[in-house]
Amino acid sequence: MPVSFSLSPEQEQLKHSARQFAEENLHDLADAVRAESDPIRRAALARPAFEKAVEAGFLRGFIPVPFGGTASAGVDAAILIEEWAVHSPDFVISMAGPLIALVPVYEVGTAEQIQRFVAPFLVDAGAPVAAMAYSEPGGSANFDAPAPSEGTRTTAVPDGNHYVINGRKAWASHLPGWDGDGPDIMTVVCRAPGGVSLIIAEREHLAGHIEVEEYYDLPALRGCLTARVRLVDVRVPKSNLLGEEGQGVVLTRHAFVGSGASIGTFAVAAMRNAFEVAYRFATTEKRGGPVPIIEYQSAADVLADAKSRIEAVRLLSWRALDAALSQHPSALEWALHAKVFGSEMGVEVINHLIELVGVSAYDNNFPLVRYLNEALAYPVIEGSNIGIRRRQMQGLLQSEGYDPLAASGMSPHGKGPDVPVAEQ
Ligand SMILES: Cc1cc2nc3c(=O)[nH]c(=O)nc-3n(C[C@H](O)[C@H](O)[C@H](O)COP(=O)(O)OP(=O)(O)OC[C@H]3O[C@@H](n4cnc5c(N)ncnc54)[C@H](O)[C@@H]3O)c2cc1C
Repeated sequence: MPVSFSLSPEQEQLKHSARQFAEENLHDLADAVRAESDPIRRAALARPAFEKAVEAGFLRGFIPVPFGGTASAGVDAAILIEEWAVHSPDFVISMAGPLIALVPVYEVGTAEQIQRFVAPFLVDAGAPVAAMAYSEPGGSANFDAPAPSEGTRTTAVPDGNHYVINGRKAWASHLPGWDGDGPDIMTVVCRAPGGVSLIIAEREHLAGHIEVEEYYDLPALRGCLTARVRLVDVRVPKSNLLGEEGQGVVLTRHAFVGSGASIGTFAVAAMRNAFEVAYRFATTEKRGGPVPIIEYQSAADVLADAKSRIEAVRLLSWRALDAALSQHPSALEWALHAKVFGSEMGVEVINHLIELVGVSAYDNNFPLVRYLNEALAYPVIEGSNIGIRRRQMQGLLQSEGYDPLAASGMSPHGKGPDVPVAEQ
């Protein structure tokens, strides 16, 4: 089948419905969230739109078709994320918990586990949330480091037919759930006797066992309910272990492939907004001179460079999300490029657009700095570029048989990397 970059009629329809939902439900919400100082009230503001989105079937769009959802193509995911993130990236992040937390369930869950853990997200009702509880307050880039390093500090101690989980977790949206009693499911990265493992804690196990230490005060993405919590004696049946004890490092890395790819699209949304503002400024403002500033070559160059970078990141992210959803052997490499290059382009492009607009932009009431604040998150969330993502790329480059042409399909052998995905 030939590769086409034109949207299909179905994708045009998806773009239209996603944009319409965002304009009707997310645009004003984003303003209200920015104006609200209390983090819990900020999250509560989003809940009605969240419920509407679930009712309209959008949550199933984050769940792959074989598991009962409607996510079948990476470009579709990119279209939905971009259209919503243009208005409220925090809304998308808080809704997209299943995009990370359920991936290990798909990968190694038993049929019974898949049915039980995915079911709450397929009912098109309520406001179900999932959290991937990987990050810890003392740092997580080295979560796989063996003793005497701390590595993963949260423990799961066997007790009869249960694990008892204790530890502190941070950053993941909805760690406390909407009401402090936890999300519908929390995928907990923890240290069991057999090594780093993934255990699913359900709301019934978490209620009454989560102490919220702090709600973070983020510069942007303020609608994500982002907290530092302590898990105290969370008793979970052993049947909630995913795969085997000790499989947690590999499963965690795999869980962040699709979400890493999506970061490029989040960066596109921030750049798209910033470009629109700067372009309007450049074509209408003379700043006391004889002509609009776009007529000066140096000013037009900033816009030209910004536009080419935006288009490059958009295409890269489409490719990366397509690879992630189709489980392409080079999905990790594509995700890393979209995450690292996309997020860093986001900061660079918006920074230059601020320079183009000049001093007027250095004002919280002028709509540009907010997009830089959003973009600043993208190099450090979903695994920081320095601490995690470039190291993963280094691992690929150093792996035996790495073929630099494989990801693009331009290898003379026409196949993917020799490194099995499970080892990446
Ligand atoms: C809005 C938002 C949503 C998030 N969602 C989630 C989520 O759903 N689930 C979740 O678990 N987390 C989430 N996070 C946290 C995010 O994924 C972080 O990337 C993660 O906590 C790891 O942080 P870090 O890479 O900075 O590591 P840290 O361990 O905090 O390291 C800090 C820095 O030290 C340096 N460093 C450390 N070790 C090394 C090394 N070996 N080599 C080189 N440099 C090193 C790097 O410069 C690194 O950036 C979220 C964060 C935000 C803001």
